[in-house]
Amino acid sequence: MHFKTLLFSFALLLIAVIGFGQQKYALVIHGGAGVMSKDKISEERRAEYKTKLNEALNIGDKMLKNGAAASKVVVEVIKILEDSPLFNAGKGAVFTHDGVNELDASIMEGKTLNAGAVAGVCDIKNPITAALEVMNNSVHVFLSGEGASAFAKQQGLDIVPNKYFFTESRYQSLQRLLKKERERTKKDNMGTVGCAVLDMHGNLCAGTSTGGMTNKKYGRIGDAPIIGAGTYANNKTCAVSCTGHGEYYIRLGFARDISAMMEYKDLNIIDACREEIKKLSELKGTGGVIGVDAKGNIAMEFNTSGMFRGYVKSSGERKVAIFENE
Ligand code: ASP
Repeated sequence: MHFKTLLFSFALLLIAVIGFGQQKYALVIHGGAGVMSKDKISEERRAEYKTKLNEALNIGDKMLKNGAAASKVVVEVIKILEDSPLFNAGKGAVFTHDGVNELDASIMEGKTLNAGAVAGVCDIKNPITAALEVMNNSVHVFLSGEGASAFAKQQGLDIVPNKYFFTESRYQSLQRLLKKERERTKKDNMGTVGCAVLDMHGNLCAGTSTGGMTNKKYGRIGDAPIIGAGTYANNKTCAVSCTGHGEYYIRLGFARDISAMMEYKDLNIIDACREEIKKLSELKGTGGVIGVDAKGNIAMEFNTSGMFRGYVKSSGERKVAIFENE
């Protein structure tokens, strides 16, 4: 073989090897982590969850294939989950101690490190859209309560009465907790939603949306709307979204710590997420995390018996699962 041809073939091979595993885009979602067992979630119910997770993946996959920006995909995917009563976000949000629904959400872009968040909102139909507006159209990062609602109205977002968020099952969860006079149970909060994306342009973005924790009091705000706790994205490292007992995630600086371990300790995304979950377990906290890195590698780690989760990659690789070891 001519030397030049040989060199050319070698170069092609090298490109193929280096490029192997590199995804053009990737999308990973969660619908909350918690105590889950096959005897507690009927087969029918499991199918409902999987159908909704697949619907969200399909929409995101299609958008990404068409070159949509990561932040647009994160918002559209999370909106699907917020509009479903199955998840503890938007429509299916849990109740506070006082019997109302107060919602939190956040979004962050890995290219610019721009971020937006809202907390304790009672009338914004899709809190993730408000987080996006805060990121794109305000000089602030984090708005709360009535101010956040006033801003959302100004931006023309869908506003609904608080009773829009009423679902019988979440209401009964609160009644059970009030009756037992317990602060919380792990299983009653399940269903926070999150999404992390690598788009065709090499940009990362993550978002999280939640009703928080059943029976929460005194204007309690969890990790989900806190940049660095429940959500983080940086093109240098990863995009991650968390779910679990928020107080622990705030104390650990959970999401940002994963990015920092990748940046400063050179950990890959799976090892960084596992390491952080270990820290969570050491504090006796429970929950999970999803993440994607700049090459489209996916992580879905948790220390509970289940986490609603799924991913799709440009290669066509895809998964939806609920329980551990699934
Ligand atoms: N992390 C959420 C919070 O603490 C709840 C959850 O993800 O289940 O508000």
